[in-house]
Amino acid sequence: MNAPLGLYLHIPFCRQRCHFCAFYLEIHREAAAEAFLHALYTELRLYGDDTYGKGRPLTSVYFGGGTPTALSANQLTTILTRIQESFALHPDCEITVEAHPGTVNATDLCGLRHAGVTRLSFGAESMQDDELTGIGRPGAKAETIAAVNAARAAGFTNINLDLMYGLPGQTVESWTRTLRACCELSPTHLSCYALTVEEGTRFAHDIHRQAGLLPDDTLQIEMDQAAQELLVQAGYRRYEISNYAQDGFECRHNLLHWTQGSYLGLGPSAQSFVDGVRFGNVASLAAYQTALAQDRLPVLERTVLTPQEQLRDAVIFGLRLARGIPTSHLHSHGANYGYLQLIDGMRASKLLEEEGDRTRLSARGRLLADAVAEKLF
Ligand code: SF4
Repeated sequence: MNAPLGLYLHIPFCRQRCHFCAFYLEIHREAAAEAFLHALYTELRLYGDDTYGKGRPLTSVYFGGGTPTALSANQLTTILTRIQESFALHPDCEITVEAHPGTVNATDLCGLRHAGVTRLSFGAESMQDDELTGIGRPGAKAETIAAVNAARAAGFTNINLDLMYGLPGQTVESWTRTLRACCELSPTHLSCYALTVEEGTRFAHDIHRQAGLLPDDTLQIEMDQAAQELLVQAGYRRYEISNYAQDGFECRHNLLHWTQGSYLGLGPSAQSFVDGVRFGNVASLAAYQTALAQDRLPVLERTVLTPQEQLRDAVIFGLRLARGIPTSHLHSHGANYGYLQLIDGMRASKLLEEEGDRTRLSARGRLLADAVAEKLF
């Protein structure tokens, strides 16, 4: 039996760019979307002809971006049909579509459910309209509520809400109100991401010209703790640093990323990791389309990870999970690479903790997870 394989599709379009967003994308235009789809179908066909095709059923398909629902439900359904022409789908395949709440209606959602989509991930970000305006995010709390209700009516039982904290003007109190408003909608999964300021974004530009402030670390730590308390009380389990789920609703596709599973990424800028080999697509729609027009995969470079690099990734990503990593695994594979000393040092400074055969981030380590990862690089 082959190891699980996931498929990620980067849909590189949005209606406008949010102030914090550094993803590769373009503003949606119908003609550009049609040209992209044409190229994507070629990419699917090329992979289908390759060894990845029918021989290794997909355990998850994830439409991300960008905003996948910048495309019409018909276009998304056609992509799914093309996927099934090139790949076999595991009978229990998780099929997620990321959606902006303001870009879907009841008919679209029924169409997606009917086409086999099993999971929706709505980019709610905040349930306070003024905070949404402050991050340049089109939409309103009412749209998120309407979208979740319409998704339920269409038959979806697995729904995620993406949220961000540390937003300009946000307080612990307004963040708590957002979390409560989300819990009232009973999603099966919640992702809570701390705002970070990436180069090239409107926020970074504002900070450079002293018209904006970096998110306050101390406030973000308080918000992280508030989320943990409130969501755990509401019946969610924190299974990864930024992710909470009801039992059995952990995102299978993202778990592949955190457990060194294999996934193919299609679309401009999409990253892949298959059986120890990392490779990524060119981050330009024009170059992507040019390569595929010549029946060439738009892959920029391939890196075969050394055992040391695989171990490093397994540790860094594995520590993000609440269950951590097997300590025995570290001992059997880590001794040659100096990791054991590093890990011991972090245990001594209470960034890591050990329980039974598992090593994981402590509560303090979770708050400093990026610093821990940097040390391990
Ligand atoms: S909707 Fe999402 S992908 Fe699009 S600009 Fe905003 S954050 Fe970026």
